[in-house]
Amino acid sequence: MVNGLREENIRRIIELEDRICACRRCPEQLHCVRRPALGKGELNPDIMVVFEGENQYTTDLERVIELRVLLKTCFSVERIYHTYMTRCAPKACSSRHSACCYTQSKLLDKDYHCILNQQSCTGLPIKADTAQIINCLAYLVEEIEILSPRCVLLMGERVSDFVLRCFGIFDSITPGQFFYANQHSFMVAHDEHTFNHTECLQLAACLPT
Ligand code: SF4
Repeated sequence: MVNGLREENIRRIIELEDRICACRRCPEQLHCVRRPALGKGELNPDIMVVFEGENQYTTDLERVIELRVLLKTCFSVERIYHTYMTRCAPKACSSRHSACCYTQSKLLDKDYHCILNQQSCTGLPIKADTAQIINCLAYLVEEIEILSPRCVLLMGERVSDFVLRCFGIFDSITPGQFFYANQHSFMVAHDEHTFNHTECLQLAACLPT
């Protein structure tokens, strides 16, 4: 990548991340989120992986590294970037509901302890609802436009369905499919929990050159 373009991408990604970190579109989710999930990896990616949101898999560094190695090997590429459809992972928490009437503040301190009881957060991760996903999708679309990866790997049918609709594709979705829209290529995969070597090889074999 030409130096000037790389610097421009870095500047635009930093500016995007600043807006994500300051975002308050989903106030009911923010109490138990210390920091929104941001993209990581090469800023001129061959493959951009899109997860639905942060979960036990994506916060496990070893598993993410394993996935990166798998993609690099099967696709014969070097540069991988991963990011999220929804940035603030929602949680179910009984302690929070009464407190939320009195404060708009975040309830986690810098060590991820709940300020209501000084204990480690016991909130249970839940799926983002449609409203939250729609609130957040514009950030992902902007990220795809900025980084313009050779291919966007959509992890799971829910991610694929929402993201492809943003690019004008309303077909029914099945893992293994490829789509091309707005000068971007998209691959539909099973989600990260079941994605494996065999599926990765199959997708790589079908990737248009
Ligand atoms: S989930 Fe996305 S849209 Fe909602 S508050 Fe977080 S960054 Fe903003």
